[in-house]
Amino acid sequence: MNLRVGIGYDVHQLISGRPLVLGGVTIPHRLGLSGHSDADVLVHAVMDALLGAAGLGDIGRLFPDTDPRYRGANSLELLRRVGCLLAERGWRVINVDAVVVAEEPRLAPYLPLMRECMARALGLDEGRVHVKATTTEGLGFAGQRKGMAAYATCLLAGHG
Ligand code: MG
Repeated sequence: MNLRVGIGYDVHQLISGRPLVLGGVTIPHRLGLSGHSDADVLVHAVMDALLGAAGLGDIGRLFPDTDPRYRGANSLELLRRVGCLLAERGWRVINVDAVVVAEEPRLAPYLPLMRECMARALGLDEGRVHVKATTTEGLGFAGQRKGMAAYATCLLAGHG
């Protein structure tokens, strides 16, 4: 049995007139993330961690933002597809850990639902998916409310 770790990182800009979707959960806020898909920065970082660990590239390669099929795409659905791709290659997800960097709104109340949504998309027990949130105390693009970032790591086991 081989073990593989992966890392994912993503950033999206905050703009008005867009819903804020994080970990598949729509969160009431005056600003949302801009992007070709639903711009779910957390799910994007998680997918890149999973694809990286499996040596399958990244979401830009798999779901190019130049492809009209992915316009307004539900990122949770893309995560489900990434999970299927990994399973086809014989990889099992041991765990995912992630952190969202956002100055506002307060994300703590939504973290359990984000975990549940992402775990369900991957067919995993909720205990295998963890999400945290942090601010940057006003520093940088996240602190200035210009955007949000997300970091994710994962561990896979398989025979790859
Ligand atoms: Mg993205």
